[in-house]
Amino acid sequence: MPDGPATPTPLEGVTSLYRRFRPGRFAELRGQDHVVRALRGAVANGRVSHAYLFSGPRGTGKTTSARILAKALNCESPVDGDACTVCASCVAITRGSSLDVIELDAASNNGVDDVRDIVAGAWHGTPGSWKVYIVDEVHQLSKAASAALLKTLEEPPAHVVFVLATTDPHKVLPTIRSRTQHLEFRLFPAETLASLLKDVSRAADLATDEATLEAAVRLGRGSARDALSALDQLVATGAVAEARPTFDDLLEGIVLSDAVSTLTALATLVGEGWDPEQLAESLAGEVRQVFLLQVAPRVADAVDADRARLVGWGERLGLARTVRVLETVGRAIREMKSAPDKVVILEVALVRLVRPELDATYEALEERLVRLERELRAAPAPTAPDTRSRRPIGQGAVTIPPVSEPEPPATVEPSPSPSTEAGGEDVPTLDDVRTRFAERVVPRTSRAAQLILRSARVQAVEGSVLTIAVASEEMRQNTEMITQGLRGALEHEFKRGFSVRWSVDPSLVAAPPPTRAPRGASAPIRDEEVHDTGDDDAEVVVVDSAAEHLITEMFPGAEEIS
Ligand SMILES: [Zn+2]
Repeated sequence: MPDGPATPTPLEGVTSLYRRFRPGRFAELRGQDHVVRALRGAVANGRVSHAYLFSGPRGTGKTTSARILAKALNCESPVDGDACTVCASCVAITRGSSLDVIELDAASNNGVDDVRDIVAGAWHGTPGSWKVYIVDEVHQLSKAASAALLKTLEEPPAHVVFVLATTDPHKVLPTIRSRTQHLEFRLFPAETLASLLKDVSRAADLATDEATLEAAVRLGRGSARDALSALDQLVATGAVAEARPTFDDLLEGIVLSDAVSTLTALATLVGEGWDPEQLAESLAGEVRQVFLLQVAPRVADAVDADRARLVGWGERLGLARTVRVLETVGRAIREMKSAPDKVVILEVALVRLVRPELDATYEALEERLVRLERELRAAPAPTAPDTRSRRPIGQGAVTIPPVSEPEPPATVEPSPSPSTEAGGEDVPTLDDVRTRFAERVVPRTSRAAQLILRSARVQAVEGSVLTIAVASEEMRQNTEMITQGLRGALEHEFKRGFSVRWSVDPSLVAAPPPTRAPRGASAPIRDEEVHDTGDDDAEVVVVDSAAEHLITEMFPGAEEIS
């Protein structure tokens, strides 16, 4: 809406801001330009589909757009495919009294009879006018109802348009989806919501200050409906501070890994009257912003006042833990849907978060790793620097025969005689390969790969074939997905291609990074150290490909090698 607020409806003063300032025509619809372009163009050119699928989060304008489409189609004096909003037809549709627009909320009327009823009506249209059927939450239709709908979509009556709206397009039958033109609605960026709220409060003559508007934008989380109802409430109660749960205490508890203070913070929030599910969702929303501000600040839609605070939490939580909070809370939200005692689910989830040792998931291991790294970074430098790691590397030129037996852990192989001119081909020695593997190759791989490779050991170099042993069969099965990245890292280091053969050597111990011997942050982990950590921390790392994918995405700094 470039100029002026949306057309106020005749219900002014009685209904919520969201209803009152619902856009009445395409020109007033904000933030969904691609949708508006498609629909206006279709109306103007007389090429309207018989069925549309509008998908997107709640409050992003799906049903509003469907009604505007109905208006534009039936308008007595349309302008460039847009409704005039003042003709008899437009007014009737705005009022909800038009017979040309039939709305069905599939969430409450999901049976086959409901669909048959509306579908039967589709055949008796008013001559010359378009009938628009809006089925909201279409994914909730029963199977039989979906089948009835599909039948109609297969042979749609002329002058009938179905607009199927859903927050979850993947749950819509593929056969239905394929008969529709799919338009996706997106969450509104914070600036769009801010300007919407500003215009609405000006038009409604509301006394609002910046802080109130910002709070409403925040509460809206990308949804125009939520932002406007938040504004409603804020104006009515004058309460800004109480309008949203504050998670600072809870996040503090998570940062400190303090189960008691985390649960106390949760109890306080529940005591303030927040519904556990709503709390979990708000927490997920807030942590999502913390996450985005870390990985893609431009995508984050935190309002300025909140930004610094959320960036601060990102720094304190770190990326790995932020991801884990998101995933754990997300899982809790799903579990809560069907659980009788929802707060318990949330409590258990939070305890898992602060006590990762209780949690055997991949992310928990990842987080332990990061935590250990931090501790090590904070620890004093090793007193006796290991000269072996300073040994000049990369000068060998002798082919080393394959080694069949694993080496005793702390053995350092004697350096091979320096460069001979063996055919000019620069073949690194096994010792060389081992050192460079640990010091340069492994750190270049993804973090998930590092979990496996830190306890791995180069067993042999035969020509261009590298044999690498891992600690268990289970780990070996996970090597497939890290091989490509590893080969890239090897090639980068050795300037030549290697193929990798994997073997299992149970004498290797799969463990998170060593906890015993403090070392400098960037000091590589050598085989020897890994062997030393054969202790109760040892754990078989199971990496699934989803986690691998997630982690490589999360840590672009770890150099994506392909
Ligand atoms: Zn009109």
